[in-house]
Order: sequence, then structure tokens, then C-alpha cells
Amino acid sequence: MGVWPTGAMQAVMLSAPGIASCVEVKIPVWQPNCALVAVTRVGLCGSDLELLDGSSSYLQTGRARYPLIPGHEWVGVIVAVDGSTRLTPGQRVVGKTMLTCKQCEACASGRENECVDLREVGLYSQDGAAARYIRVPTSSLVPVPDSVSDRQAALVEPTVTILEALGQVDIRPGAQVAVVGPGTLGLLAAKVLVRYPVELSVFGVTTASLRASKRLGATTAEVFAAHRDGGRYDVAIEASGTVQGFRDAQDALRVGGAMIAVGVPHGVIDGFEVGRFVLAGQRQIGVRHGMNHYWEALRLFELGMLDEGDLLDSELPLELAAEAFTRLADPGRTAPKVSLIIQDEERRVP
Ligand SMILES: [Zn+2]
Ligand SMILES: [Zn+2]
Repeated sequence: MGVWPTGAMQAVMLSAPGIASCVEVKIPVWQPNCALVAVTRVGLCGSDLELLDGSSSYLQTGRARYPLIPGHEWVGVIVAVDGSTRLTPGQRVVGKTMLTCKQCEACASGRENECVDLREVGLYSQDGAAARYIRVPTSSLVPVPDSVSDRQAALVEPTVTILEALGQVDIRPGAQVAVVGPGTLGLLAAKVLVRYPVELSVFGVTTASLRASKRLGATTAEVFAAHRDGGRYDVAIEASGTVQGFRDAQDALRVGGAMIAVGVPHGVIDGFEVGRFVLAGQRQIGVRHGMNHYWEALRLFELGMLDEGDLLDSELPLELAAEAFTRLADPGRTAPKVSLIIQDEERRVP
């Protein structure tokens, strides 16, 4: 259904460490059971920055290789679609980052989130959405309700990780919950958690992020100080992706508490007191994205329970991708997220 275009398109290409440019490439060709989607917006995050600067574990393990098209937080409009699907051209969709193999033991056992043979859109083995068009399996697409804006839909991808994280532990009324690292993931976690009947403390570094945390309803928002707050929290969500954040989240836990890590720190953690952790009966839980939560995430935006407030710093056209990456790397930006606008909402393909 729909006419699958051919010819050239603009795309952001990461060609070597530090080199991001907008180039012309071929529009992806038809493939069975795939859709071609005209991308309207892509959010950039720390993973994209690591692909650009070369520090990404995907590059270092050889799973990702230059040149590559980044972009895994995206929304677009279906142009053409193959195979039997309820999706139709003109439909607005978000796409799942994890493309599972459907054949490994985990996939075959209904645990696709644990697939051992993944491809990840815009990260490795699958071109990303920082382009006019992206070709993806129709099974990875999720329709976006009309009342959810493109701005909001592009935030669904990080939101699913938070929903997976919050489902990992029992957060009871009156619980004390800490969020460490109020970047995109941390602020999204805080935005959901302010709707829980819990005491919510956000620990961050920059004034802007702490102000935003306070504004959205956190009980407290401050720089972490282990001697003052350590050992009090039932649950700590580590969203900074730094070794220090990991330490802080661990230090924040009470006896029997649980730390849920959604950020991905590089390196090893020296001085981690394993004995104390064991004797305190604590848990550490790593979150592997949340590919089953796209519908729930969209529903939260549709119901007005989540919004983009305090998350967006700047929006730049595709052609200015290099500037967008520079802005993303700038610690002085006012909010965590930098987006690329690929196609104005008015200029949507029919
Ligand atoms: Zn991301
Ligand atoms: Zn699999």
C-alpha cells in the first residue's frame, strides 16, 4: 500500500569520530514486511553523542561501524507499507528501537525484551531515523494517537525504559523514592513518579535540572550528599549514566532497598562495598529498555499525564545536525533534549 519512493534523500551521517554531516544517500529500497516512514522528528540523546565521539560500546565491540545514520527516538508518517498489517499510509507512528530476532530461545518463549540477537535502530545493525525516510519492520511500529504531538511522540522511546524500570519493583504508597540524574530519563521518571503517593527526591548537579525537578513536583531536589540522605530510600533510580550517579544511588538505599539502573555508565566501579550490599539485603536491577511499553507510554501522553515540559532545549533542522550535536554536548544547555526537525507537521505526506 502506498507508493514506495525511489531516488535520493538527505540523512545525517556519522562517518568518523567527531564527524556528523548531512549528506545525500539512497532512499531505502522495498523489503518484505517493512514500511517506509517519512520521519518528522528525531530526539538525540547521550547514546547518539557516544556514537559520534567514538566512545559508544557498540563501536568498541564492533557491533556498530562508521559510517552510520543515527536516530532511535523518532516519530514519522507511513509512506508505504508491505505485507499484512493494520497500518496504512498516512498513519503517524513511532518505531521500536529493539528489533528482535523472533527465533532465539528468549523470543520464542515470549520474552522478546531478552532477545540475544538484537538489532537496534540507529545504534547498530539498522540505519536510524535521522533522515528523510526510514525503513523498518512493520511489526516494530506503533500508531500515535491524534492528540499526542510529534514533540511528545519523540519522547516515547526514552519513556518506555522508565515504565520498564518502574515495573521492576513494588513501589508502595508512602515509599521514599530517589531519582539520581535529572536528564531526559530522570525527568521522565520524576514526571511519572510525582503521580505516585510517594516522597520523591531528585538528585542532580545543574541548577536548571534541579529547578525543573522542583517545578514538576518533586518533594526535594538537590545535590546528593551521602552523609545527609544516604540509607533512607526504598527505591533509587539511577538515570545519570555515570559511575558517580551509580554510587550515589547505591548509597541512598535503606536496608532492603532496591536500586534500578537505567543510565549506562562506562567503566568499573572501584570501592563498591559488596559485603555491605549483601548484608543490607539490597538489590541492583539493570533495565534493558522496555520494548513492551510503547502503547502505555503513548497513553500517558494522550491522557495528559506526561508532557514535554522542561525536557526540550532546542529544535534544529536536519541540515544543522552538526550544530545539534554540538548543542547536545554543551553542559550549558537549558534542558536535556535536542531534537532534529525533519519535516514540519504541516508538510506531512498524505
Ligand atoms: Zn536515546
Ligand atoms: Zn531473539
